Amino acid sequence: MINISSEVLECQNLVGGKWVRASGKVVNVLCPYNGAKIGFVHESSAKDVNTAVLAAQSAAKDWARVALRDRCEIMFRFREILLRDLESISQVIASESGKTLAEAKAGLLKGVEVTEFALSLQNVDLGGKMQVSAGVFCEIRREPLGVVAGITPFNFPAMVPLWMIPIAITLGNAFVWKPSDKTPLTSFFIAKALEEAGLPAGVLSIVHGGKETVEAVLDHPGISAAAFVGSTPVAKAVYQRGCSHGKRVLALGGAKNHIFLLPDADVAMAAKGISDSFTGCAGQRCMAASVLLAVGKVDSIVDEIVALSQKHHVGKSMGAIISRESLVRQQKAIERALAEGANLRLDGRDPSVPEQFKDGNWLGATILDNVKAGQNAATEELFGPILTIVRCKTLSEALAIENACEYGNAASIFTASGDAAERIASEARAGMIGVNVGLPVPREPFSFGGIQSSKFGHGDITGRSSLDFWSDLKKVTTKWAPLKESNWMS
Ligand code: NAD
Repeated sequence: MINISSEVLECQNLVGGKWVRASGKVVNVLCPYNGAKIGFVHESSAKDVNTAVLAAQSAAKDWARVALRDRCEIMFRFREILLRDLESISQVIASESGKTLAEAKAGLLKGVEVTEFALSLQNVDLGGKMQVSAGVFCEIRREPLGVVAGITPFNFPAMVPLWMIPIAITLGNAFVWKPSDKTPLTSFFIAKALEEAGLPAGVLSIVHGGKETVEAVLDHPGISAAAFVGSTPVAKAVYQRGCSHGKRVLALGGAKNHIFLLPDADVAMAAKGISDSFTGCAGQRCMAASVLLAVGKVDSIVDEIVALSQKHHVGKSMGAIISRESLVRQQKAIERALAEGANLRLDGRDPSVPEQFKDGNWLGATILDNVKAGQNAATEELFGPILTIVRCKTLSEALAIENACEYGNAASIFTASGDAAERIASEARAGMIGVNVGLPVPREPFSFGGIQSSKFGHGDITGRSSLDFWSDLKKVTTKWAPLKESNWMS
């Protein structure tokens, strides 16, 4: 059960191992469950960011010289602390993001999984050496970049930062983290866990704030690389600004994920997979099902999706919407879809809410049927518990709708046909594909990342692919003794 603390937590910047208040204006953190102020941060100016980067630069030099095994040892301890404090950190995550406690724990555990990948790097051959010619050796060394940055969204206050921080730090970088200004409180507990694990001061810095702070991070010449996760317009702007300064940038954006539903699908598996996908985290997941492409006669499965989805109770089995602004945007999108001719199969507006949460931001599961491809509800990222059903005659028609989408994060198919599943796996324009899986999040070491407008930059944010983002490959060619026999190299 969620326990919202009545304490108001001030979350400060972390600079060189010390907690310091930034100089900018105050941003309040409001609990989505009840609208209460549960914390605040001060926004960081370019000067505040500079102070943090200078401290990070000084820590980065020593940290890069620490043996990989010793860095992994700290990640081992960090993992233990996250598991020990799972309950208390999850309470903070749920309080500021609106998730249920179970969802908050699941997100943190996914962060633990990435930490496990990071601490396993000591057992991975990260470079390699071989004799390439008589007496001549070529070696690849993986080197840290120095100071790197991560800018993270509201919806996973621990998981998304933990996609980045453990891997970047284990590879020998110092990390400057700009958490979401809507959910900054969790960062304090992550930082305390890393400190307790033995991470030297300055290897992790935190700067709070919004646009101005992000721009100062992207403009700072002392930062070599920046990873971003958030909405597509901001991801694009961050990518362009960071690249214009010669930084390495990977910016993950928004999504509009399609689920293909075929008549031969297993009814129970499809209904549960689809319902869980669009209602989980109140639809505020970049992997959430958004558009159901219902191919042919699938009414009995749709009925079951409606039946399962209406069992949710907001404030109990379903969490809250992050802000009043976001809630209103979603309510307007539902009204617009209805005005455009959609059938309301399930109405989540004005749900019944436990008394203590009456001032929260609530929207229950909502299902809009017979939406036309191209209409707003079928194309815009709504980021709420809203499932848009577009009826299609054939799989080809459904595929054409999915392929016309600007985003490309995830797509899933529910079917008993291997041919149909393979067709979606190879032809759907999305980076992560599910077959009879409603939320196709790859487990580590498989990497996470979309394509098209869901990602700007090269490679993925976790897994093997992320190693090349957070490090440089240096090639060393060595010969020690002159040789009798010679070729062009020796
Ligand atoms: P957002 O883009 O509003 O904010 C993300 C980060 O950017 C935050 O730290 C925020 O403070 C900062 N920011 C906001 N406006 C900015 C601006 N104009 N210039 C510079 N920085 C700015 O996103 P959000 O609302 O926090 O998160 C939800 C979005 O994130 C959704 O679109 C969702 O799909 C996406 N998301 C994507 C993934 C993925 O893996 N692709 C994962 C999680 C969330």
